Amino acid sequence: MLGSRFICMAFAAGLALQPPMITRLCLLTALLLGAHTGAAATRIAPDTFFIVGEATPNHQPDGNSIIIAAPQGLIVFDTGRHQDHSQAILDFARAQHRPIAAIINSHWHLDHVGGNPRLRTEFPDLKVYASTAIDAARAGFLADYRAQLMTEIARAAKDPGAQESMRTEVALIDAGAALGPTDVIAKSARLSIAGRPLQLNLETHAVTAGDVWVFDPKTRVLLAGDLVTLPAPFFETACPARWRDSLASLEKAPFVRLVPGHGAPMQRKEFAVYRKAFSQLLDCAAGNAEKADCVEGWINDAAVLLPSSKDVSYARTLIDYYIDNYLRNTSERIRKFCSD
Ligand SMILES: [Zn+2]
Repeated sequence: MLGSRFICMAFAAGLALQPPMITRLCLLTALLLGAHTGAAATRIAPDTFFIVGEATPNHQPDGNSIIIAAPQGLIVFDTGRHQDHSQAILDFARAQHRPIAAIINSHWHLDHVGGNPRLRTEFPDLKVYASTAIDAARAGFLADYRAQLMTEIARAAKDPGAQESMRTEVALIDAGAALGPTDVIAKSARLSIAGRPLQLNLETHAVTAGDVWVFDPKTRVLLAGDLVTLPAPFFETACPARWRDSLASLEKAPFVRLVPGHGAPMQRKEFAVYRKAFSQLLDCAAGNAEKADCVEGWINDAAVLLPSSKDVSYARTLIDYYIDNYLRNTSERIRKFCSD
């Protein structure tokens, strides 16, 4: 069971879920996320390739990665968490005979920055563009998560497989500065990265204290990171109200395709569905409706984005949990995500 608990504890970044919920969510994660199929890059626009973030039983998830072929090398948007995800990125670079020139990280969660140290080892000159939010996370959130992992490792003496997974996670946290930026994104700006003009946008206190999203004017592809996640938004480090405002900013960009942090690439009309469902979820949670009505509201509003019964079932569990623990009955710790 510990292996399952571990998945959920670490789903977004390594977050302190309450024990009964950890088990419940983790069991569902293990049951619902399906078989590992290997992550090969698929072309979604000219010079733009998508590597899906895998989530498999007894295995913490990876976020999606996008690779853009730029004049001076490859740009990797988010690097996943696990070795097989970063290996897929490196295999792609090798097959293209191109160096990785830059990483852009959407945010500091380990399923998005976990491949950074490995890619930097292979390509020592690459630049890493990200906000500085990981600094506070390393001192607070990730330090707490590491302490939790050490406790669980000590308890898991009879489960060497779980211990091994958790030690890998601890080693990732201990990579420290190798997870963070070489080039800080402190404000929204159009930058030339590896010779390719890209619009980088910074949102503060949305999914995390600093979230970067990218609009590529050449292909009109928008890379959203976890500002868009399926089958439900992940609220563990979020300021929900500011996140809602950020979705309005995304809407203003003239994109034709949007790549979420988790889930399949979508078009404008699907993003509009997500945005409306997100807003209605917040309104419902802020009102007097029964929790079950808010849960079913998300399921109905986001229905076209939840193609399988396992998506629906998992979304239902997540939203139920988030209403109780993040959208209602909000603790001081969670309220601080809007101000820290
Ligand atoms: Zn994520």
